[in-house]
Amino acid sequence: MNFEIKYKDARARLGILTTSHGKIRTPALMPVVHPGRQTLPVKEHGAEIVITNAYLIYKNEELRERALQEGVHGLLDFSGPIVTDSGSFQLSTYGEVEVSNPEIIKFQEAIGTDIGTSLDLPTPPDVTKKRAERDLEVTLERAREALEVRENLTLNSVVQGSTYPDLRERCAQELASMDFEVHPIGAVVPLMESYRYRELVEVVMASVEHLPDSRPRHLMGAGHPMVFALAVAMGCDLFDSAAYILYAQDDRLLMPDGTHKLENLVEMPCSCEVCRTYTPQDLINKKKEERTLLLAQHNLAISFAEIRQIRQAIVEGSLWELVEQRCRAHPYLLDALRKLVTYSPQIEKYDPPYKKSAFFYSGSESLNRPEVHRHWEKVRNLPRKEAVLLLPPVTKPYSQNLHPYLGIAYGRGACEGMLTGKLDLQLAVVDVPFGVIPLELDQVYPLAQNETPTIMDTEARLQVKRMVEEYLEGYATVLVASSLVKRYELDITEQVTVVDPISMDTHDLKRVRMIADYQFQPGAGEALFDDQVRVVKSRKTGKIRHLYQGEDLIATLRASDGVLVLAVLGARKLHQHLPYPVNRVVVNEEAEPFAREGKSIFAKFVINCDIDIRAQEEVLIVNSEDELLAFGKSLLNGREITDFKTGQAVKTRKGGF
Ligand SMILES: [Zn+2]
Repeated sequence: MNFEIKYKDARARLGILTTSHGKIRTPALMPVVHPGRQTLPVKEHGAEIVITNAYLIYKNEELRERALQEGVHGLLDFSGPIVTDSGSFQLSTYGEVEVSNPEIIKFQEAIGTDIGTSLDLPTPPDVTKKRAERDLEVTLERAREALEVRENLTLNSVVQGSTYPDLRERCAQELASMDFEVHPIGAVVPLMESYRYRELVEVVMASVEHLPDSRPRHLMGAGHPMVFALAVAMGCDLFDSAAYILYAQDDRLLMPDGTHKLENLVEMPCSCEVCRTYTPQDLINKKKEERTLLLAQHNLAISFAEIRQIRQAIVEGSLWELVEQRCRAHPYLLDALRKLVTYSPQIEKYDPPYKKSAFFYSGSESLNRPEVHRHWEKVRNLPRKEAVLLLPPVTKPYSQNLHPYLGIAYGRGACEGMLTGKLDLQLAVVDVPFGVIPLELDQVYPLAQNETPTIMDTEARLQVKRMVEEYLEGYATVLVASSLVKRYELDITEQVTVVDPISMDTHDLKRVRMIADYQFQPGAGEALFDDQVRVVKSRKTGKIRHLYQGEDLIATLRASDGVLVLAVLGARKLHQHLPYPVNRVVVNEEAEPFAREGKSIFAKFVINCDIDIRAQEEVLIVNSEDELLAFGKSLLNGREITDFKTGQAVKTRKGGF
């Protein structure tokens, strides 16, 4: 037997297991095949490897003779690798078996099993520690015996230890020092049946951490697709499923997010052949035996589909995202996820630091993923510069989009050393979930390749706050953007200076003020837009569209040419600010009522006008007393308006003043 790893993600391995009956890809699902009673051809439904029970074959005289003659592959009519169990299950269920450990090892060797199993002693959860220890001694003794008895049989050796992580650990350590090929993790079915997934994680992690990496691990009895992704992420390579048939016998359908009772279904849950061909009622109307076979087909199809999805996720580096999705299917699976992240320091050692897919934040559990743990360990140990400036996040990669902030931080002279380069300054962005990201690293995976929701949860705020406070411990001089202080409720100590790098809003303000100064005359910008101006941007382009004072529109920034189009309030403000006759067209008494009604202004009614007006400009329409009557767009320039006696001079936008 040979096992090699092709891809890794979290603690998962996508591997190739080579046996004398061919190669299979792992993680792999091994359907349980009942010797003599199997009616579903599992190979046709995707099985590359199967598992059967050597003890059941051994005990039945007819099956035993056939197996000894034709081999177990002949008996099951399966040409791929076959794993055999030893009768431990019967031992745990009935308390005794009619075979000894050496006998069952010899028998498995004789029938040509690819991977055989010693007769270990499965210890159920929650027994006294004394009993678990006693059982463990028996299991280890039988493991040693199995190695002495076997000639060339590839051997499983099962990790036991009940629900005591320290016993699981000890068992794994002892077995690791012996010459076995595969390690099942045993006696976990009762945990899974009662949804004790948190303890499943404890048991599996305690075992896996101390098993040799070069040997495949088999999570015994794990046949529900709900747990596959979780188990694979913990480093399990093989699963066996009796569930596909047991659930089918009970009229239940497996899905990766749970179990469905046939009687409750009005629609079939997937698009496998069975679900495409039959309605729930069709199946209910069938005879029990036929229905069981059809449901078993669905159960196998969905289980293999999940295994394929997991293998794809490992190659992409998105397994953790899949685990988070699956673990949200049930609160006790969420417990398992929350337990799993407590092992992030260990998992991180196996998790590749660079992946093809982005890190997706799917909830506060993501804050404790191995990637976050890794970044934090690395970043807190980097050499410190003299001072640090913490900046708010912008679109990633941060350094390409931080210019407006940095310019203002420098310009304000918050730290003169920055300008001159005399001060050795660390620039860093603060963001969820990675906490502090030195700007030099902002394009390193996954610091740019991650997505988080725009609405922050409390856990994220608290964790980032903790990270920032811890990070700042190494600095004497700290500059923190005021928006960060607010966002994360940072405590301001003596070492900290709060700086006010321009926020995007005030940056927008600068922009529109300058446009007004440019368009009208210097000073118009401040007159039109005070500090409280409300900027409304286009959802599509992100560009500034409307500028309000409270609910009142001041002006609109026209998308096509980027200049301001006045509204009523803007016209009033501009009229107040600009001295007569700047930007004005003065009409006579005759035209005044028409102007107030918002009618267009004809040149012959104009008695005075700013000679510097250009065509297509925003102009104010006043009477000889400089009362504002209306405003509009000039159609001619100042000279033309005063010269012409015919035709339109100003297209009025709004009157009514
Ligand atoms: Zn289906």
